[in-house]
Formats: sequence, structure tokens, C-alpha cells
Amino acid sequence: MDNSFFLDAMSWSYSRISSFDQCPRMFDLIYLKCADCVDNAFAQWGSLGHSILERYFSQKADLWDLSQLYKREYTTAVTERFPYSRLEDSYYDRGLEYFESFSGKLADEKEILMVEDRYTAALSGVPVVGIVDLVVRNSSGLVICDHKSRGKWKSKDERRKYLRQLNLYSIYIHEKYGEWPKELWFNKFREGCIDREPFSEIEMQADIDWFMQSIDKIYKTKDFVARPDRFFCDHLCSVREDCEHSESFIGRH
Ligand code: SF4
Repeated sequence: MDNSFFLDAMSWSYSRISSFDQCPRMFDLIYLKCADCVDNAFAQWGSLGHSILERYFSQKADLWDLSQLYKREYTTAVTERFPYSRLEDSYYDRGLEYFESFSGKLADEKEILMVEDRYTAALSGVPVVGIVDLVVRNSSGLVICDHKSRGKWKSKDERRKYLRQLNLYSIYIHEKYGEWPKELWFNKFREGCIDREPFSEIEMQADIDWFMQSIDKIYKTKDFVARPDRFFCDHLCSVREDCEHSESFIGRH
């Protein structure tokens, strides 16, 4: 089937491309078949953390209220269940610990420039969308920061993949501020640490190439083959109710 009609109307983002990388069938179900998406507890917990950090950095919440906000909003924000009860407790406790001990500064930032900025842009004529969590300035220059709810990286490759998102944001940041960032940060709030990476124009160009080549590959894909991964399929995939590879399959498609 030729999907050009739908793909031509699409705005592209890192998360769209990485969903294709994770599983072509997931991309097809979400973006071409418009299947109903379902949430999961890990994503909801991450969204709650993001939301509280966003309110703090945009001065809509005070530092001393953050742990109370977390406690108050947890049950309405995290409505799905974690796969194991020990995870439920561990995630809740970790979030509370993070916000109770948060000093108000991530690292050595001196100025907050941008919070949760949704942008649209064009990259080689392709419409691109993104949401930048945070841009700050420290003594070395601009820093793009992404709040990450995940734990330790599984590998160097995994970390490198996530840096692609920040490198793509850097094009927008350069257009807006007229300078490249000096550093890329992951605020790993589950781990309670900042993972810093010096910005590299060479790596950014490699990531732009990856992005454009991935779009090309999606256009050429005729058969969006499933790439099952047991834990991801059963607990994380947002279209798991529509895919027979998940134990949550209920057979709508
Ligand atoms: S359940 Fe697994 S195989 Fe099916 S779409 Fe989701 S990620 Fe792909």
C-alpha cells in the first residue's frame, strides 16, 4: 500500500521516527491506522515528573510545594498499574525522594531561557515538530536539557540514540538564539543525576542524516513488520491492545 497521502500530511518528530525504529508495526498502528492509544504507568509517572518540573521552571510552582504537589497529584496522574507491586512502591518513593531533596537547581545553570517550548520548523523542506523541555545558560553557554524518567542506560548505544533528540532540537535553538548549545543534558530524575554531553556539530549532522534517511525509509516501507519485545509489547507499547504480540491484545484490528 502506498502511504504517501498520509505521510505527506505528517509533521515529523524524534518520537515518531523512534517509534518506527522500535517497531514498524507500532508506527503503522499509531500514525497510519490511527489505532486507539493506551497509557502505561511508567509513562504516566514520567509525565507527572515532567509536569511538576515544568511548573517549577516556569515559576508556576514554588520549590517548597513540589513534594506536596507530587503526593497530591500522584493518584490522579498515575492511574495505570505497574506490572509488579514492588515497582509501584519503588517509583512512588523515588519521585517523592527526588522532589523532597530537589535543591531548585539542576546543576550550574545561571539563567532559565525556555521551558516546555513546542515548536514547528522545517528541515530540508520537511515539517518538523518538537517540545524542548528546558534551555538554560551556564558559564559555558546554552544548554538543552531533557527531563528523563528512565533509569540507567542499557548501553552506550541507547544513550547515543536519546542524544539524537537533543541534537535535533539544537537546530531550532540555533535559529532562535543564533548560537549552538555548548552542552546537552539529561535530567534523569529517577536516578537523581544530570548526565551531561558536550555538543558536537558533527554528531548533530549525523543525527540529521539519520532523521532524513529514516523518513525516506518509512516512505519506502510497504510492510510494517512487527518487531516484538516481550516486556515492551506487554507493558509499554501504546497500541498493545491492537496487536496480537501483546498479552493485552483485545483484537480490534
Ligand atoms: S505490541 Fe509489540 S509487536 Fe505489537 S505493535 Fe506494539 S511493539 Fe510492535
